Amino acid sequence: MAWDVLTDEQRELRDLVRRLARERIGPRAAEIDETHEFPWDVVELFRENDIFGLFFDEQYGGLGTGTLLSLIAIEEVGKVCATSALILAVQELGSLGLKIAGSEEQKAMYLPRFASGEWLPAYALTESGSGSDSAAMRTTARREGDEYVIDGSKRFITNAGVANLYTVFAKPDPEQGHSGISAFVVEADTPGFAVARLEPKMGISGSTTGELTFDGVRIPAANLLGAEGDGFKIAMRILDRSRPGVAAQALGIAQGATDYALEYAKTRETMGKPIAQHQLIQAKLADMETECEAARGLLYRYGRMVDEGVDGAELTKASAMAKLKCGDVAMFATTEAVQVLGGYGYIKEYPVERFMRDAKITQIYEGTQEVQRLVIAREMARESRAFLLSGVVA
Ligand SMILES: Cc1cc2nc3c(=O)[nH]c(=O)nc-3n(C[C@H](O)[C@H](O)[C@H](O)COP(=O)(O)OP(=O)(O)OC[C@H]3O[C@@H](n4cnc5c(N)ncnc54)[C@H](O)[C@@H]3O)c2cc1C
Repeated sequence: MAWDVLTDEQRELRDLVRRLARERIGPRAAEIDETHEFPWDVVELFRENDIFGLFFDEQYGGLGTGTLLSLIAIEEVGKVCATSALILAVQELGSLGLKIAGSEEQKAMYLPRFASGEWLPAYALTESGSGSDSAAMRTTARREGDEYVIDGSKRFITNAGVANLYTVFAKPDPEQGHSGISAFVVEADTPGFAVARLEPKMGISGSTTGELTFDGVRIPAANLLGAEGDGFKIAMRILDRSRPGVAAQALGIAQGATDYALEYAKTRETMGKPIAQHQLIQAKLADMETECEAARGLLYRYGRMVDEGVDGAELTKASAMAKLKCGDVAMFATTEAVQVLGGYGYIKEYPVERFMRDAKITQIYEGTQEVQRLVIAREMARESRAFLLSGVVA
């Protein structure tokens, strides 16, 4: 293996995930894509090997091995199956509300179930009329005595129907802005809660994406995360921490496509030699590999920042940059991989067309690439580089 930044313990865990991915998940990936069935066998594999534990602290039953390693685990699985990588990313996304804003009691009740994989979570922010503009949501939560009553709906929710607990955002009055939003946890068997439908999709076909409906759903007031009105802040902090999970999924897809294209190019011959010896194909492979490594640099830097306790604006920017770069590299590398395979790249017998379909979503969910650019530019505007101007003026 080439030079890497990991400690011996991290390398050992990375190699375990890599082996499971290659030997157990890879051979299932095409079938998962074709059947559109949620891969419970992969969930079971993650449970048996304590892979969900990578995302949680020891005090809640996790391994406490940190953020960098959890991202590497998603990347390794993403190299062979984007749907399975998403299961890991959403284990983090769906539990971040509790980690960031949960009381000790709430954390103790739910996090160990997520760390073992006994329960799966989901994150329900988006509605049919509010995606990028999440403050425009219309789902309501009104307080009645010791309960909140939730009415409304959510759209495009990953893990719909397979999750046991949903982090849900709502406000007392649909006309209110982002300051009215609160965050709640809602158990899947609460009366009035339903999964109205599941969406057929371009890629990540084994992952469920669904519409949730809330019809007078009564939850205990104790299910509020943080304080009333904190919801928007919590939602944005969750996305800061979860976007790198999508970035890791995207990087895995990009590297998986690059690796496959390389091996194919070594064996496919045209004009008397392997296409890997034609300079135009070499240029493609070199660009794909270089882009993957550049994306990895941003992603691992983010992971190390979290593990070293960095927080705030610097982390927000690093997270958005990692997601932006990795998502774009996934689309670039998978499109090039299809090209390297020629006609064979376009047919389902080879995995690169699946990689290309799977890559697209990483430019859309958890904030589109346009939104990432808005976030990065906003954080740049806050930074001071005034010395440049003063230099010119002087
Ligand atoms: C498969 C899948 C899984 C998902 N999983 C989840 C989930 O688990 N939980 C959840 O809450 N949501 C989830 N989503 C929703 C996803 O996060 C949103 O679809 C995404 O944020 C974009 O919102 P939108 O679809 O409403 O697009 P819109 O917000 O309508 O955007 C349409 C286009 O306009 C651009 N745009 C919007 N505003 C601006 C602006 N101010 N400046 C420049 N361009 C702009 C966007 O970038 C995009 O290109 C999922 C979506 C999909 C497809």
